[in-house]
Amino acid sequence: MANIKILLDKCIGCRMCIGGCPFNAIKVVDKKAVIQENCTLCGACVSSCKFKAIDFEKDEAATAVDISLYKDVWVFGEQKNGEPANVALELLGEGRKLADQLKVKLAAVLMGDHVEAAAQKLISFGADEVYLVDAPSLKDYNDESYADIFVQLISRYRPEIVLMGATTYGRSLAPRVASRLNTGLTADCTKLEIDPEKRIILQTRPAFGGNLMATIICPNHRPQMSTVRPKVMKPLEQDQSRNGEIIRPDIVVPEDVKVKVTDIVTTLSEKVNLTEADIIVSGGRGLGDPKNFVLVEELAKVLGGAVGASRATVDAGWIEYSHQVGQTGKTVGPKVYFACGISGAVQHLAGMSSSDTIIAINKNPEAPIFKVATFGIVGDVLEVLPALIVEFKKKLG
Ligand SMILES: Cc1cc2nc3c(=O)[nH]c(=O)nc-3n(C[C@H](O)[C@H](O)[C@H](O)COP(=O)(O)OP(=O)(O)OC[C@H]3O[C@@H](n4cnc5c(N)ncnc54)[C@H](O)[C@@H]3O)c2cc1C
Ligand code: SF4
Ligand code: SF4
Repeated sequence: MANIKILLDKCIGCRMCIGGCPFNAIKVVDKKAVIQENCTLCGACVSSCKFKAIDFEKDEAATAVDISLYKDVWVFGEQKNGEPANVALELLGEGRKLADQLKVKLAAVLMGDHVEAAAQKLISFGADEVYLVDAPSLKDYNDESYADIFVQLISRYRPEIVLMGATTYGRSLAPRVASRLNTGLTADCTKLEIDPEKRIILQTRPAFGGNLMATIICPNHRPQMSTVRPKVMKPLEQDQSRNGEIIRPDIVVPEDVKVKVTDIVTTLSEKVNLTEADIIVSGGRGLGDPKNFVLVEELAKVLGGAVGASRATVDAGWIEYSHQVGQTGKTVGPKVYFACGISGAVQHLAGMSSSDTIIAINKNPEAPIFKVATFGIVGDVLEVLPALIVEFKKKLG
């Protein structure tokens, strides 16, 4: 068993550890920290005490796993209204490569209500198997039941790698599953590779504001879990003739969950659908005034694209956050990305540099955006944008 205790000679009762415990399991009584009964022995509080007064012993024996028992690559088959999310298809494309290198099967985990058609679609995009858990209570995503079922499936079938989209659902589900299985999770990966000999996945992601790339491994625990942002990986071509097996595991679907979804309201931000757009026209501080965003909107409309924005314009209140592209906004990968009056800070590039074609408009020829641009237009965005709108209107009728 793991163990935790407060070293009374070191504890000064500063209360810093109270906020460091996600379970509200620490009290300070008579100027000494006291661990309460609801402590889960997660160890999260240790780093919050700079006086080294929290003594936490991990139970390495209990957490050690026989990693040779784990095989196969799994992808979370995220779906909405029975339609697999694009990121699930992208992850199947990437998962296929990993599974082929490891010479194992690629499986998708699909939960929902009457979603067998989605299972077939996952197969047509590369899955050898789909673990399908179909129940009315799983119609809409629910943290508690989805995590519970995922943990049951992993405990029974033991995949060595589990990939999820870094979407709202995937970002909520992955850490719940990882912590319950006592394994590691690397969030927001941009590259996945395999060390085939050690059967370790090399998970690369931007670190320190995108200034360097960190490659993270999970050598001692299984499964190895990663989330990947939408549009970073490429899906395979759909092949309707692909055969795969749909497995309906005998699993307990939790019905007595604390949180129930009563209604789903589509917000304006979901209608923007930046992550799915083939053409994005983004505006930056170089537009000079919020009213000039109308030019960005006009060009996007003429081209049938979506409107993006830099954080500077969002922070200035020129446009809603749902349009923000970048490290703290959306990751996009359109066929064409217009950066209009955007300098090209690393945090912006982190969200759009995988676009197929980047067209930058900036009056400063030294602007960093030109380093990643396929085509650069040096000029005043307030002159170039109207000219482009006129020309595209002529060409596209
Ligand atoms: C932790 C962190 C996270 C961040 N996350 C994000 C993020 O998700 N997305 C993001 O975008 N940023 C993010 N940022 C902010 C980022 O560092 C930049 O500050 C921001 O991207 C700058 O926005 P901008 O290019 O619109 O503005 P500026 O950097 O001010 O650039 C404006 C550009 O417009 C050009 N210009 C000016 N006038 C004209 C004109 N008339 N015609 C043509 N060009 C003109 C200028 O030459 C300049 O290059 C983050 C920062 C931090 C610290
Ligand atoms: S355990 Fe550490 S952080 Fe908590 S009250 Fe004592 S000295 Fe402060
Ligand atoms: S080990 Fe975890 S649950 Fe226990 S006191 Fe520390 S942070 Fe709280």
